[in-house]
Amino acid sequence: MPHPSASTYGRLSALAIAALGIGSAFAHPGHPDAFGFNDGFSHPLSGIDHLLAMLAVGLWAAQNKRSALWVLPLAFPLMMVAGALLAFSGLQMPGVETGIAASVAVLGLLIAFAIRMPVWASAGVVSIFALFHGYAHGSELPHGASALWYGVGFVAATALLHLLGLAIGLVAGPKMAAQAVRLGGVAIAAVGGYLLAFAF
Ligand SMILES: [Zn+2]
Repeated sequence: MPHPSASTYGRLSALAIAALGIGSAFAHPGHPDAFGFNDGFSHPLSGIDHLLAMLAVGLWAAQNKRSALWVLPLAFPLMMVAGALLAFSGLQMPGVETGIAASVAVLGLLIAFAIRMPVWASAGVVSIFALFHGYAHGSELPHGASALWYGVGFVAATALLHLLGLAIGLVAGPKMAAQAVRLGGVAIAAVGGYLLAFAF
């Protein structure tokens, strides 16, 4: 059986991202009191805002190449944990939902325009957005072991989404497929814009 070409993968990924945007509920499914690994793991996969942002981090890392390939997928989960700890500490962070929506819109645009930055700058962008994603959940979690396992599950799903984005982005190396990834970025940005409109 012939292997599908890279451009096929690229087109499929862009389609999948677009389908996700259309098929899933646009609004965040809320933050119910959820404990344990499974709840933590399923949350980023079920919330379109987290899912697209985390996928986007992997896609953008693949576009940036070099050290961004591993720095961005590490920076996001680390700073997400930092954001959760900020919330635990009781620090007030304004505009969390807006920040999360903006992360989807901006990362989508960065992919759409295939914008490359020095790794310190791209890591900075990703880190700021990660703080919002982490804070949103740390603020609702009690201290204790169950919160820890929720966090472990959350980070595991995040890492998986980063890897998926990276894989799609790296497979889509050739020019045609790279265009498809950029189209995926347009779709992500569109969902982000939609989320932003509802965050205000
Ligand atoms: Zn959430």
